[in-house]
Amino acid sequence: MPKAKETILEINLTSLEENYHYLKSKLSEETKFMGVVKAFGYGSDSVEIAKNLVELGVNYLAVAYVKEGVVLRDAGIETPILVLHPQPANFSTLIDRCLEPSLYSPNVFKQFINVASEKNQVNYPVHLKFNTGLNRLGFWENDVDFIELKLKESNTIKVASIFSHLAASEDKNEKDFTISQIHNFKILTASLINKIGYSPLLHICNTSGILNYPEAHFDMVRSGIGLYGFGNSEVENKNFQPIATLKSIISQIHQIEKGESVGYNRAYISSSFQNTATIPIGHADGISRAYGNGIGWVTIQGRKAPIIGNVCMDMIMVNITEIDCKEGDEVIIFGALSTAEKLSASIHSISYELITSVSQRIKRVFHRN
Ligand SMILES: *Cc1c(COP(=O)(O)O)cnc(C)c1O
Repeated sequence: MPKAKETILEINLTSLEENYHYLKSKLSEETKFMGVVKAFGYGSDSVEIAKNLVELGVNYLAVAYVKEGVVLRDAGIETPILVLHPQPANFSTLIDRCLEPSLYSPNVFKQFINVASEKNQVNYPVHLKFNTGLNRLGFWENDVDFIELKLKESNTIKVASIFSHLAASEDKNEKDFTISQIHNFKILTASLINKIGYSPLLHICNTSGILNYPEAHFDMVRSGIGLYGFGNSEVENKNFQPIATLKSIISQIHQIEKGESVGYNRAYISSSFQNTATIPIGHADGISRAYGNGIGWVTIQGRKAPIIGNVCMDMIMVNITEIDCKEGDEVIIFGALSTAEKLSASIHSISYELITSVSQRIKRVFHRN
């Protein structure tokens, strides 16, 4: 890749492909694959990622909200798309754009049937989400009779899949809890299938579920973070490649005397003669203020330069006293070596939060090896 000339988020599509093949290698041949591209493809670019995943052969795509699904349809993507958390206000648009809703409560279930029947739909594909312990979204086991009754009343909708979500699939200390979630899922799906008389697809695993619970792959898995290059453990991270590298440049270098301050509120006071570099990326771009004052860092000429003072909206300042560099030089905020996982851990966050926070004003640049 040529050196960055401004702040860019570089996306390596070869790495995406390799991450996908690694995940696929964990699955039996019949297991279907749902590529999760919510939140702008985990901050990268949902359309570009979705198009590549479709080419690679994913069976399904997933987004969180209807608006995200509409963007994919507008881009000409025709693959089935599950909307994980649709709002009833958008059900009409969802149907118009052939998106498939997750229905997770008696309330949204009834509202969806009403909208779909007004639009004269027959066997419209829906996905029933059950709560097995995350206690976030989902029907409870005792909603099964209500669902059966409603499904027998009309043929407006048809259940394409039944699914649930694991609360701690990456945490080996919670293995017993995860196994109980999987067990409850088996029981409730068996009961529901028995009542409705046909067998929708079953799925419960996210990325860490795929890696840690091979016995729970069922008919389909839903992977997000693995595709983007993180395995949620030191061992598994080695099998993935982060697809995104956030790069910037040095806008200006200053020499400051001992005792001088840097940035807003004079939060940094220099303890000696120092060189500082100003970088055009700030908290409006996803670099939280929590990274300020020596917590976070960037990499310049292969060396760590700590962020000094407060993170500004559009800029950060870093200490480059020990680094041989000049204005215009490339700066890596995170990438394959200094990863988003390591940087986010410095503020007690996770890779998911940092990569999805990269602002939309930063240009995305795609490449292959
Ligand atoms: C986001 C999400 C996923 C993807 O999880 P990863 O840990 O990124 O693989 C899967 N299922 C549901 C319901 C989700 O909300």
